Amino acid sequence: MIPFIRNDQYNYIREQARTVVHTHKTVQDTDVKLAVQSLTIDKIQDTFKNLSDEQISHLSLINNVVDEETAAIYLSSLREYVIPFPRVTEQILSALFPKSKVKNAPIQQTEFTRISHFSWEDPGTQKRYIVAYPDHKHIGIEGTFSTRTVHGVCALCNHHGPQRLFTARKNHQGNRDTYTKKGNYICVDTVECNERMTSLHYLHEFVQRMT
Ligand SMILES: [Zn+2]
Repeated sequence: MIPFIRNDQYNYIREQARTVVHTHKTVQDTDVKLAVQSLTIDKIQDTFKNLSDEQISHLSLINNVVDEETAAIYLSSLREYVIPFPRVTEQILSALFPKSKVKNAPIQQTEFTRISHFSWEDPGTQKRYIVAYPDHKHIGIEGTFSTRTVHGVCALCNHHGPQRLFTARKNHQGNRDTYTKKGNYICVDTVECNERMTSLHYLHEFVQRMT
């Protein structure tokens, strides 16, 4: 079976597995447990478009999850089916950010099966770079990244955590000299942000707003 699970889908499944474990800990009634199980499989399947029978039967192994240990076994069995984020190279980054030095980008240090966006910070210039892949191509957005941390909801992953203001220029169509500045709060820690992504919805909405 070839990889078929995106990072955000994997994170969503992990969230569901946690709910199942919690149900087994707190609920005695077998009928309720079974209802939660079947609802969970429906929810997981709904995040995919076309699943083969083999893929469905693998995802349905969540039926074996009853505690932390069985959840860990289930989740690690899915790991090999996670699709990596489309390949990022220094060449691609130089094309996306022609005016910036992209040498500091952590290409080697990144586990591409664990990200939905490739982002890094250049502390020297207080810049944050974000690469997403919304419509079968890489899109790059660069902006300044404030040093002041607040607690809030991230525009990329839509989860709570420490945030900082990311401000980027949006050029007006056909005119490079006029632009609007747009600010969004995003997670300080990009590894955590990627781990919190349970859908691509907010990330792609962000890309649309900023480009
Ligand atoms: Zn985030």
